[in-house]
Amino acid sequence: RFCLHLRYNSTVSYWRDVIDVKNASVNAIVHTAGLHPGTGHGPLKDLAIAVKDNICTASMPTTCSSAMLKDFTSPFNATVVDLLQDAGAQIIGKTNCDEFGMGSLNTHSVYGPVVNPYSTPSDSAPWVERERRSAGGSSGGSAAAVAEGMCDAALATDTGGSTRLPASYCGVVGLKPSYGLISRWGVVSFADSLDCVGIMANDVATTKRVFNVASTYDPKDPTAATLETRHKSQLTPMPLVEKNLQGLRIGIPQEYFPAELDRSIIRSFRLIVSALKDNGASIIPVSLPSTSYALSAYYVIASAEVSSNLARYDGIQYGLRVDTPHGADKTKTSNIYAHTRSQGFGREVQKRILLGTYALTADAFDNYFLQAQRVRKLVREDFDHVFRAPNVLMNHSSNFTSSSQTSNSNIDVLLHPSAIRTAPLLPLSSPDSSSILSSSSGLDAYFQDVLTVPASLAGLPALSVPVCSGVDGWPVGVSVVGQWGCDDLVLRVGEIVE
Ligand code: GLN
Repeated sequence: RFCLHLRYNSTVSYWRDVIDVKNASVNAIVHTAGLHPGTGHGPLKDLAIAVKDNICTASMPTTCSSAMLKDFTSPFNATVVDLLQDAGAQIIGKTNCDEFGMGSLNTHSVYGPVVNPYSTPSDSAPWVERERRSAGGSSGGSAAAVAEGMCDAALATDTGGSTRLPASYCGVVGLKPSYGLISRWGVVSFADSLDCVGIMANDVATTKRVFNVASTYDPKDPTAATLETRHKSQLTPMPLVEKNLQGLRIGIPQEYFPAELDRSIIRSFRLIVSALKDNGASIIPVSLPSTSYALSAYYVIASAEVSSNLARYDGIQYGLRVDTPHGADKTKTSNIYAHTRSQGFGREVQKRILLGTYALTADAFDNYFLQAQRVRKLVREDFDHVFRAPNVLMNHSSNFTSSSQTSNSNIDVLLHPSAIRTAPLLPLSSPDSSSILSSSSGLDAYFQDVLTVPASLAGLPALSVPVCSGVDGWPVGVSVVGQWGCDDLVLRVGEIVE
């Protein structure tokens, strides 16, 4: 027993040593855990897991990579952290991210950008200066920590693609589960109706092990899927996905190949599709006609929810407090509020709060917020039309098989590229130094999410698996998307694609 204890402790210090050596050039880990031996037993006892900095941990700060929360340590663990620890996993540190999860390149962080650790063959030549590319965002730290071997798996969050996009850029696996399967209790809210806890690892098998523990009903999360709903989603017979893929119907959505999609990605994607076809899967082209409106709808809805959620950072209750400057009226709390929020939030967060507040004003509400909600419904209906399995969240009858919902394609899963390109170069100067609302590069960053936001709006499970290299030798992922609750099927198909 003594030997075992020693070995376990050396495992804890092993990860600290790895992080000490590797993190300096990548900037993925922003806090490391003390040397607390875990339980040492349970299904995840062999895993070291890093946690995104917007998920609460009692033993380390939770800052959301924001100056606003720079000194904040939560008095409790998020439910998902407790579940992993109880299953024997060791939580080894917190990962860098875009501030409060807002961003696609992990450049909006008070700790500075995360550098993509992926190495191309040319990196081995000592005379070639290594390119500094983005690790993607907002969970860039989680993706980079996994890719660089600083942990076995990492928790991320995914509101519009923040698990899948960095996974694609860094060449790791990233799962956004069905909305409501993993508890959000203790996860700092960005846009509640979209926020999901995501999982990253180097392979689908590890992702699945973590998901099996994390996907547990939690009465503390009012948006958690109930046991009854979880059970209902298991009732549709699914094809047995084995080596021979006979019976598996894979849909290829035609709207997921926009003009901006890098041509080399299409070539690699075709190779995957023909390999699946050779193994017996049926490949069916499908149409999801509302896709082109999804990105705009996402940014209206997410910003509106941000403007409401982030109102709590007011300089009074907790977090940063910036007192009024000398000479200003100290009796006015509105002064404290304004100074705290101007200094505590970065440019991108301020921009979203302004956009969201505008979308919710009486003048703009109908044209922006309501319109975006209508688009969200259409996006969800598009998916429901192509999937063989019914959407159990939309069906209120007890016998869901008699649902009026009809699928015209009987698809089991959809397959599409996860991103329109490989990882972009990191900007030389901080994007936060540019003037608010003026930067067109902000729009470029938003466009990176074009292939990931539809599944977020519909709350569907989506898994990015690294399969192909773009023409520049950098990785891109392929996404497998399923009906709500079909996470197991999505993971199973991901294992075949891998
Ligand atoms: N890039 C998207 C945004 O900035 C998605 C972020 C996320 O999924 N957390 O809103």
